[in-house]
Amino acid sequence: MIDPVDENSKIEPAYLPWHRPLLNQLLSLKQQQRLPHAILIDASSEIGGAEFIWHLAMLLLCDDATDAVPCGECHSCHLMLANTYPDFKYVRLLYDDKKKKINKNIKIEQIRKLIYEANLTTSYNKLNIFAIHPADKMNIESANSLLKTLEEPGAQVLILLMTSRKGKLPVTVRSRCQIWPLDHPQNEEAQYWLLGQGMDTEDIDQYLEYAGGDPQLALKLKSEDYAGVVNQFKQQFTQYLKNEIDVSILASKLVSNGAPLVRRLIKMAIDAYCYQLCGLNAKKNTQADLQKEAAQSAIALSGQVNQQLMVEENNLNFQLQLEDVLISLKQIVKRSKH
Ligand SMILES: [Zn+2]
Repeated sequence: MIDPVDENSKIEPAYLPWHRPLLNQLLSLKQQQRLPHAILIDASSEIGGAEFIWHLAMLLLCDDATDAVPCGECHSCHLMLANTYPDFKYVRLLYDDKKKKINKNIKIEQIRKLIYEANLTTSYNKLNIFAIHPADKMNIESANSLLKTLEEPGAQVLILLMTSRKGKLPVTVRSRCQIWPLDHPQNEEAQYWLLGQGMDTEDIDQYLEYAGGDPQLALKLKSEDYAGVVNQFKQQFTQYLKNEIDVSILASKLVSNGAPLVRRLIKMAIDAYCYQLCGLNAKKNTQADLQKEAAQSAIALSGQVNQQLMVEENNLNFQLQLEDVLISLKQIVKRSKH
């Protein structure tokens, strides 16, 4: 999730019940003065990262924090809440006024500024925290420029990286950080939380399934009426399989949902139409072979979706690549049915 925009805009610190163990472990390390200098939070959810990292920073800077919660009363807390704490810096994707859109990457100038500031002494003789989020948005140049600081930060410096796409970070960065996974909760806790957020009982399981068990994502998908979008997509895709509508029409209808949703739908279609068809219900060997082949094609197509449909904008190129994927998908479904 991208949290724009200008360098000084404030984010409301927040955490969720299942974040508590990790917050407490880090708080305890800080109290024992055993915090590492570079931490990579490896989040399973792409939602709420900014709020979490602000909460974590506030917690570590607080003079009187207990049980994952900063006191809210001390000098540090007041400054953090007013976004005026001099020794906490949050490096994010910025809004480009000229291009009128959010930058795709965290720029090297931002990291250079961080490195410069990391060499200064702290104002309060406490931790000097630099958060970079989403850390996978550093380009190679930015990531490389950070390496030396990750290796030899100043005495009081803590560098906090957070990402939901750890694999996109260079190994050189990952290997210099202590990695802390931030997973979503067990199903029961996720259900309980969603109930508390006002989601209807009958929707909860369905949306948790759509979201791969991530309750934050489930809530977001619900707010977008994802079930309605899925039903509409199933109808349109069936028409497309029956040659009742053309690939370009289907693609243009899909594109109107926005790229992230399209990726989600296509992956779901690969699961539903390909993998399930390639299941264990094959009666003849020839059918089994065909299905095995279809499964391999489906896996290859998943890879293609990950690579080609990562464009963030709904431009023409995205639509053409989507058409490509839809054509492959149809071929796999047809082949596996023979
Ligand atoms: Zn405090």
